[in-house]
Amino acid sequence: MPIPQAADRVPRRGAPGLDVVDPATGETFDQVLDQRPEELDDLVDRSRRAWTGWRADPAARTKALLAAADAVEAAGDDLAPLLTREQGKPLAEARAEVARTAARLRYFSGMVPRTRPIDDGRPVHSEVRWRPLGPVAAIVPWNFPLQLAAAKFAPALAAGNTVVLKPSPRTPLATRLLGTVLAAVLPEDVLTVVTGREPLGARLVSHPGIRHVTFTGSVPTGRTVVTATAASLARVTLELGGNDAAVLLDDVDVDRVADRLFWSAFRNCGQVCMAVKRVYAPARLHADVVEALAQRARTVVVGSGLDPDTRLGPVNNAAQLARVEELTHRALAAGARPAAGGQRLDRQGYFFAPTILTAVPPDAAVVTEEQFGPVLPVLPYRNLDEAVDAANGTGFGLGGSVWGTDLDRAAATADRLECGTAWINHHAELSLTQPFAGVKDSGLGVAGGPWGLYGNLRPFVVHRPREEGP
Ligand code: NAD
Repeated sequence: MPIPQAADRVPRRGAPGLDVVDPATGETFDQVLDQRPEELDDLVDRSRRAWTGWRADPAARTKALLAAADAVEAAGDDLAPLLTREQGKPLAEARAEVARTAARLRYFSGMVPRTRPIDDGRPVHSEVRWRPLGPVAAIVPWNFPLQLAAAKFAPALAAGNTVVLKPSPRTPLATRLLGTVLAAVLPEDVLTVVTGREPLGARLVSHPGIRHVTFTGSVPTGRTVVTATAASLARVTLELGGNDAAVLLDDVDVDRVADRLFWSAFRNCGQVCMAVKRVYAPARLHADVVEALAQRARTVVVGSGLDPDTRLGPVNNAAQLARVEELTHRALAAGARPAAGGQRLDRQGYFFAPTILTAVPPDAAVVTEEQFGPVLPVLPYRNLDEAVDAANGTGFGLGGSVWGTDLDRAAATADRLECGTAWINHHAELSLTQPFAGVKDSGLGVAGGPWGLYGNLRPFVVHRPREEGP
């Protein structure tokens, strides 16, 4: 299939444009439409009108979503480089993200909710059916623009809703192109992509025509979204920040796990909600763990995502780079030492040296807050209770992991973590089929697997007498 030109992503002559920056150079390389919040009234209204036809025919939906998956795959050679250019990730990872986007469409395409009879002994036949909610607002951040968007729109569309999708203003281009690609195979206005700076997102989530807001982003913005839906009482699903701990047990084989542990923290330049953001190592093994991670941090190839040798790209934007730098400098000023890295790289673009911090005060912000970048504090502990308490000791509760040789002991320790997902000897390995739900400040509601479908539906109960009444 020829790839449609994303004509609608380029600002028309005289229309407002939003600059898009290549984080590998720090320079603007393209523009996207900077849509005004006032445009939303018409777009949400069109989305609502498109809902009538889309919700009516599950078989047609399945067919359209399968065609959508094929179309995304066919557009991979255009989507992946654009994603790398605006996000910074290595091209191989951008390709993998495109593949996961298509996989989500395929996975949800045939999923239908189960109608359930209720037999509670009364002389009526009751049945629970499931109905879609209406237009859904999907808001995503800049770390995995396509994959996180699909994690929202695939189940929402499969459930029979229509979607208005807003990417981050820092990574709008690949999503715009995705919207154009999908517009060729989905009915008109079933999926609408809007791009622009704030208050576009704020206006979208508070729009009275929106019936479900599914938001992925930071905790503070998530709280704003909850407040913004007070008037419409739209359903809210939040996937928010994390500060996942990896707890290493005293029987861990450091050499064996070091690679996996390193990439659990540094994949996508540490800009992963469920990255390992703190490591707790037994005091006896602490120096070995620090050195194993630092050795990898010193030698990993950092560069433009378009360079085939690159394993670690730049930080996505100047503000995030400044935050990573500030958290690191504050930790160093408080006594931490860099076993690797510790500063920006002296080159064009938003590059920060992969950093392993040791001797970090446990109350340093780089430990208690989400750094969301290529910096990892490694803290020693003397007894396991202390490590588990520290792992659970922040407001976050997205994921966590335990690393050791005795799997039963590791599993028993993982059971004590207050989070939505815990791994043994792994971290952030996610499957389409499992529920995804952060606890505490990390989220509200459930996404993923069939739970993601039901998160986009409401129960509708029908009672009827078993026999003809008077
Ligand atoms: P952010 O909260 O700044 O922005 C997220 C999105 O919200 C963007 O599209 C932004 O334009 C939009 N937005 C901003 N203000 C808004 C408002 N008032 N109303 C509605 N929308 C608004 O987050 P970010 O910096 O883009 O992303 C990084 C954060 O996302 C990190 O905290 C990370 O952990 C989190 N994240 C969480 C998950 C998860 O699944 N739990 C996944 C990826 C990223």
